[in-house]
Amino acid sequence: MSVQSLVVNGVECSPVVEQCDGCERTKEHEGVKFCSSYPAPQRKWAHGVCNFATHVKAEIDKGGKVKINPLKASKRAARGR
Ligand code: SF4
Repeated sequence: MSVQSLVVNGVECSPVVEQCDGCERTKEHEGVKFCSSYPAPQRKWAHGVCNFATHVKAEIDKGGKVKINPLKASKRAARGR
């Protein structure tokens, strides 16, 4: 039987979505990854880039389109993470 959700302090948390791959805020519980910052990761990504994500950053290009830039490991290391 797989874990569909996790209840933490009365809040039901859903498993992370594909876009969360590589984010440092994911926590694993019984083989399923959950977000430690937001209970519904799919909603965070429904309208663009998750603003809590540690692995990507949204940037708006000259045409007004939103681009997703992966954060380089060296930048993360420089910030002390
Ligand atoms: S912070 Fe955002 S990207 Fe990271 S695990 Fe949570 S929902 Fe996913």
